[in-house]
Amino acid sequence: MATRIEFHKHGGPEVLKAVEFTPVAPGENEIQVENKAIGINYIDTYIRGGLYPPPTMPSGLGTEAAGVVVKIGSGVKHIKEGDRVVYAQSPLGAYSSIHNVPADKAAILPNAISFEQAAASFLKGLTVYYLLRKTYEIKPDEQFLFHAAAGGVGLIACQWAKALGAKLIGTVGSAQKAQRALQAGAWQVINYREESIAERVKEITNGKKLRVVYDSVGKDTWEASLDCLQRRGLMVSFGNASGAVTGVNLGILNQKGSLYVTRPSLQGYITTRDELTEASNELFSLIASGVIKVDVAEAQKYPLSDAQRAHEVLESRGTQGSSLLIP
Ligand code: NDP
Repeated sequence: MATRIEFHKHGGPEVLKAVEFTPVAPGENEIQVENKAIGINYIDTYIRGGLYPPPTMPSGLGTEAAGVVVKIGSGVKHIKEGDRVVYAQSPLGAYSSIHNVPADKAAILPNAISFEQAAASFLKGLTVYYLLRKTYEIKPDEQFLFHAAAGGVGLIACQWAKALGAKLIGTVGSAQKAQRALQAGAWQVINYREESIAERVKEITNGKKLRVVYDSVGKDTWEASLDCLQRRGLMVSFGNASGAVTGVNLGILNQKGSLYVTRPSLQGYITTRDELTEASNELFSLIASGVIKVDVAEAQKYPLSDAQRAHEVLESRGTQGSSLLIP
């Protein structure tokens, strides 16, 4: 028997329940992974809450974990039983002690990277990779805004920006988070609970403003983010932590300076196995060499059965960096 988290209706963290189940054999192109550490991502809360409804109900939750391969499907050639792997973008159900995953969504984990480091950084690190390297290519010395800089994605972005020689201006919700983002390599921080984002960006850039803003907060920061952009600047809206941006009048892009907007997702950038290999090799080498550190606070490692509590803390803005479930 194995244990997994399910929900039978949308709602708050209380809808998450731990259930026992009997794992089925992996399909032809799947691997079966005994999860050792499971990544918690903000998107999991959108799925649980109904903003992104799952394909079927009741549903499992989670798309990312690291562990050991215990079985493989007959068509799987590049992964074998006993391999240490990490995966992201699996079908919902990674909040589980055992999960069947398409082999093309998994990468073999270098020995230098622990299961916990991998589960804390794979989906989030691949996201930072495509945002800073593909959606818009951040140049050395470039100043840019990145919201929620002390979050899971945010702390990796601070470190990656520093490695690129770029100047990340991070927004954060508390003085402690400001400290953490600066330690991780943010060039400047703005506490957006106390300061005006657009005014501070104007000051920091001597009135020049920015070519690109990365916004995962959504509804609460949408307009301020546009106000931080230069003429023909790019707004990268990649998340909805405060709620989705809706009802936009396109005329606002004209009024604020012929702006561009994109709404990217990981699956739009990293779809094929080649794309996953290229991105994960770059991420793994930054982690293995210590350029990107992914230390998860002990308080943010929860037993699998405590998924409810993990979601409560994440949604109350009480976390820094990544959080994990441990089966
Ligand atoms: P985080 O650890 O960053 O947690 C979310 C953070 O958002 C909070 O800690 C909080 O930081 C900030 N926040 C601001 N306003 C609110 C609010 N009203 N309610 C809750 N949080 C708020 O999560 P992740 O690292 O998992 O994800 C970060 C973002 O990136 C999410 O929006 C996620 O959906 C998005 N994402 C998008 C992907 C894509 O491909 N499009 C892929 C991966 C993630 P603070 O207190 O400092 O404000």
